[in-house]
Amino acid sequence: MTKQVTVTIDGKEINTTADKTIVKAAKENGIHIPTLCYHPDLKPTGSCGICVVEIEGRRQPERACTTMCSEGMNITTNTKILRDARKMILEMILADHDTDCPACMANGKCELQDLCDNMSVTTRAIPKKLKMQPVDMTSPSIQRDPNKCIACGRCVEVCSTIQTVDALTESGRGSKVFVTTAFDEGMGNSPCVNCGQCTVFCPVGALTEISEIDLVWDALLDPTKHVVVQEAPSVRVALAEEFGMEKGLATPGKMYAALRRLGFDRIFDTNFSADLTIMEEGSELIHRATTGGVLPLITSCSPGWVKFGETFFPDLADHVSTCKSPQQMLGTLIKTYYAEKSGVDPKDIVSVSIMPCTAKKFEARRPEMNDSGYRDVDYVLTTREFVRMIKEAGIDFKNLPDEKPDSLMGDYTGAATIFGATGGVMEAAVRSAFFLLTGENLPSPELKVLRGVMNGIQEATVEHEKLPFPIKVAVANGLGNARKLLDKVRAQKAETGKSEYHFIEIMACPGGCVGGGGQPFGCEFVDRGIRAEGLYTEDTDLPLRYSHDNPMVNKIYEDYLEKPNSKLAHKLLHTYYFERSKTDGKAVKEVTHKH
Ligand code: SF4
Ligand code: SF4
Ligand code: SF4
Repeated sequence: MTKQVTVTIDGKEINTTADKTIVKAAKENGIHIPTLCYHPDLKPTGSCGICVVEIEGRRQPERACTTMCSEGMNITTNTKILRDARKMILEMILADHDTDCPACMANGKCELQDLCDNMSVTTRAIPKKLKMQPVDMTSPSIQRDPNKCIACGRCVEVCSTIQTVDALTESGRGSKVFVTTAFDEGMGNSPCVNCGQCTVFCPVGALTEISEIDLVWDALLDPTKHVVVQEAPSVRVALAEEFGMEKGLATPGKMYAALRRLGFDRIFDTNFSADLTIMEEGSELIHRATTGGVLPLITSCSPGWVKFGETFFPDLADHVSTCKSPQQMLGTLIKTYYAEKSGVDPKDIVSVSIMPCTAKKFEARRPEMNDSGYRDVDYVLTTREFVRMIKEAGIDFKNLPDEKPDSLMGDYTGAATIFGATGGVMEAAVRSAFFLLTGENLPSPELKVLRGVMNGIQEATVEHEKLPFPIKVAVANGLGNARKLLDKVRAQKAETGKSEYHFIEIMACPGGCVGGGGQPFGCEFVDRGIRAEGLYTEDTDLPLRYSHDNPMVNKIYEDYLEKPNSKLAHKLLHTYYFERSKTDGKAVKEVTHKH
């Protein structure tokens, strides 16, 4: 049992435990100690020294993020010595920092900016010593600006410990430490899987998405272009927090209204193609399970996970569903089905998607994603970029009246909306797989056992008298957990020739897409959980909760695709995979084929 201790912080007696750091115990008791490199969801590195506190009996101030509470500690967090020390650290950081705040993507969300503001620190105290270096633009998803990096180490920690990718590394010593990629070849020539978690954890604007805002504005202003947009499930629960509304509130109606005001010609919804994905993937699962096919089937809708799988588990490529992600399914259908129905020449269509995800930018550029005969998705904006566009256009998001998406590919069910949370794809798939196997709906659509596990693995067995066999499923979020689960699958296969699981859901980001690398900055795991709750609330509020009940999905099969996994569905909605180099992430060879 963890030892109980009593400490005093700023005169307040606090009962806590010996396994807590001072910064954590203080926060839990409403005492704010300034921090910069510290993040509550990461192992502390103690690199910046902003959180120094005085502890009675100790000669030097100590770092509150790495010092554990012990019995009788008497801690002071706010003295002149501490304030001066913090100011000095910030002044030294600013002397070596490109303080171009107005043009910085982190402006208004930057922890360094906030601290300097709170402590009245200016750039004038210490003369600039920054030697400007080039910004790394080698990745299709992420840009890294070394001139803004404060060497806090958070990106290295999240990339290596949570994601187990190790694309980033610290080089140099002491005050000369800096962050770079393996062999210093740039993010685009590293094993980076584009998940963007480093951008979410970076306290400043050193790691951000490669912006496509200007390209989208150009398309919107071009009268010869017909610009069609789709929005992922978890975008609708991340907008409210950016516009002074209740965190996690689903605002699909305001989202559509904002898109119309921005000038998009047609507004569809990725939730529609999430329902379609369930029909395709559920049918694939049943086909494999009933014909002795390769199991477990592993979901394929998270492009960061797909690239991770291609890099570190190419031997399991046969297990990954051949379904494209909902973004790519809808992108293909916009330039085929919609173009045909509307009479718009697909060459004039610009297909834009709004995603919680930086890896979607990479996915849209995969050379094979052109089954429509054109680039299926032209531009991908993150939620953060979408928010910037709304603000740039002066739209009063909070007071927008709710609007609807356009028909044809705008309707969705509750099963689709929960795609945005870890466990949601599995829950949606089980709802429809049960129906496809038994002809009946589950007694209750909810699989609560798979919900709410942040940065972890969850398992369940779905049993029912009407099912021909119990379905064993597992869900992993965060790539370190995916690695653990897939190592287990590999070991089981090596030992017995098969795995205990039928179906596995993997999401690259902790919490699933609600915690995606393109979601608003300043997001802790607890905030990801709040966004997920918003999706579950929307699911229960929607009149339809099963993908197979989506009338527009049924119509597209009747009018165009014929049936799930038909020849045309395979051509347009399915894909294949590569093995990738662990050194630079480049495709080495095709390991599955399209049939
Ligand atoms: S990282 Fe922060 S302090 Fe630096 S330029 Fe950007 S907003 Fe300003
Ligand atoms: S995007 Fe993901 S994989 Fe790439 S460096 Fe950042 S955390 Fe690592
Ligand atoms: S890039 Fe950002 S997260 Fe990484 S070390 Fe620099 S400031 Fe910290």
